[in-house]
Amino acid sequence: MGARVWNFSAGPATLPVPVLERVRDELLDHRGSGMSVLEMSHRSRWFEDIAEEAEANLRELMAIPPSHQVLFLQGGASLQFAMAAMNLLPAEQHAAHVVTGSWGKKALAEARRIGDARVAWDGKDERYTRVPQAEELTIEPGAAYLHFASNETIQGVQWPREPAVDLPLVCDMSSDFLSRPVPIERYGLIYAGAQKNAGPAGVTVAVLGENLRARIPDGLPAILDYRTHIEHRSLYNTPPTFSVYVLMLVTRWLRDDVGGLEKMEAVNREKAALVYEEIDGSDGFYRGHAAPSSRSSMNATWRLPDEKLERRFVAEATEQGLIELKGHRSVGGIRASIYNAMPLEGVRALRDFMVGFRRS
Ligand SMILES: *Cc1c(COP(=O)(O)O)cnc(C)c1O
Repeated sequence: MGARVWNFSAGPATLPVPVLERVRDELLDHRGSGMSVLEMSHRSRWFEDIAEEAEANLRELMAIPPSHQVLFLQGGASLQFAMAAMNLLPAEQHAAHVVTGSWGKKALAEARRIGDARVAWDGKDERYTRVPQAEELTIEPGAAYLHFASNETIQGVQWPREPAVDLPLVCDMSSDFLSRPVPIERYGLIYAGAQKNAGPAGVTVAVLGENLRARIPDGLPAILDYRTHIEHRSLYNTPPTFSVYVLMLVTRWLRDDVGGLEKMEAVNREKAALVYEEIDGSDGFYRGHAAPSSRSSMNATWRLPDEKLERRFVAEATEQGLIELKGHRSVGGIRASIYNAMPLEGVRALRDFMVGFRRS
């Protein structure tokens, strides 16, 4: 096997090496079943064990109470933009959306296809560089919930803690899911595509509280009704079995190897600090996109003095095995995604490269 690169891709993203090794070791014969997990029925007892452990690990890691259901869905966070509104937005009410970047904007546009979705705050005029304070939010009477994206993957803007509002929270947590503990009782719905921080592409986790469950209207297509997936324990139709299996291994790694979400958060903070300290200490050579108080611990975004230098930065980094550092075209510059599975060692290599590049 060739050497592994340091992969700073925003998603699908790097996975923990012990998880990949386990996948390799079990791939041809899953636990004495004589077949691969890729080949087995989703109704088999082997897959049942996998799905049960995935849920149990998530419940343990995030301290999810019995009032909240854990669902494994398909269609990505993009389907949840619409599905959340279909299920949770009653016709006579509206959804309040905070828009702190590209994903929040898409979530709002989709919710508007379903019902009345209004802007509580939009950071567009400030080029999506920060999250708002609670007193900046405009929430009109009759709001059913507040929707926000806890981490804007493209801009690198993250809420340091959830918005302080007295409304059920609906959160797109795709790119910082499992990166830190969250007060789960404050959330009505959390959804997250797995391919950023929790596993491979193909599975989307939803955590739905019972307070919001009561609102789901009758008459939705069965597959778009959260109650169908609750009733069938995420086995209404064929689930993405391999993705659920790898997600289970990632949650096991988080619990057993990392030691839980508080430990993971501490490591994530340390990693992010390495990058931001170099940005702040670079005398303006590197300029962070996000305001310091809204900086993401998952996706660091920054510019160089000009685009030619940015292209050189990406090219020379790639030569040194630091890949996928080009920023999203809507922001430009550099983006380093440093999710849970990116080791401290990889971020040190990036920081050392940044120092060397700046000096040269
Ligand atoms: C990647 C991403 C999405 C879109 O996820 P899909 O699985 O491609 O639908 C939505 N929101 C956030 C915050 C993301 O990072």
